[in-house]
Amino acid sequence: MAGGGRGGIRGNDRLRIPLARGWFAWTALFALAACSAGDVGREAAPRNLILISLDTLRADRLGAYGYERDTSPALDALAARGARFETVIAESNWTLPSHVTLMSGLPPQIHGVVIPNQAPSADVPLLAEVLRARGFRTLGLTAGRFLTRRYGFDRGFEEFDDAELSFAKALAIARKRLVEFDADDRFFVFIHSYDVHCPYDPPKAYARRFQTRPKADHVPTRGRCGNPHFNRMALTPGQARFLSDRYDAGIRHADDLLAQFLADLGRRGRLDDTLVVVVSDHGEEFMEHGKVGHRGTLYMQSLRVPWLMAGPACRRSLSTSRSVSRT
Ligand SMILES: [Zn+2]
Repeated sequence: MAGGGRGGIRGNDRLRIPLARGWFAWTALFALAACSAGDVGREAAPRNLILISLDTLRADRLGAYGYERDTSPALDALAARGARFETVIAESNWTLPSHVTLMSGLPPQIHGVVIPNQAPSADVPLLAEVLRARGFRTLGLTAGRFLTRRYGFDRGFEEFDDAELSFAKALAIARKRLVEFDADDRFFVFIHSYDVHCPYDPPKAYARRFQTRPKADHVPTRGRCGNPHFNRMALTPGQARFLSDRYDAGIRHADDLLAQFLADLGRRGRLDDTLVVVVSDHGEEFMEHGKVGHRGTLYMQSLRVPWLMAGPACRRSLSTSRSVSRT
């Protein structure tokens, strides 16, 4: 769950981390991008990485994972021209530890960030630091809260903006910077968004398009996220569906923004040697087990997340969903 930390943040120095393990997962990711199996073209491996974390996005709400609603044409297309990991289980059911895992390749029991007032130890190498040390230009754009410099997420980024950016704003900044980079620059861009997170507040046109419930089932969403609010309400099935519809609408809005972003970069040739990866840190429950939200349980609705990626030398089809991984 997103939310501000309490009190002072301290680095977790309880554990000494074997450094080589920290970026193993990402080394493996780049290797995977080479798609070394037989259905690969002869293109070179990607030189750049764009990593997008759509916070709170559960896998089974995307067409690429079998969802029947039209929430994700751009993400589905990304998967279709690249790779889709069938079963990805988040290492945590809330934002902070899961993103430390994403950036370090380490599970929470190793990186040690498990409560809201901890930041990863300086001993834990983060992806941007690793790539920056290898000469990459690095840009981090986040929606804030846990994904801030307070928690060390700025480490390794030449430019880092954690000013609670909307997805649209973050993509606009990324688009501008990517055009400014020299053609020879290698780059790593990390974009994080809470656009599909509670309070499930998509633009009205999207909300209307996905809405299935009558007005009687509509409940306020702003300021009511998480256990202190929805989970202490006696939500009817219709009200839970209302929230779920809003969530779906937010996914489609984010997907449309991503489509524009990728189309623009494609026209500019910036995707020719770039691996684009879309993941999430955890999912969301909508009363399947009596609650709305995440962090309270370990059901698959809270833990199974998408991992989709596409880039040069990576041409797997959706039907080649043989990869099982953990993030
Ligand atoms: Zn999260």
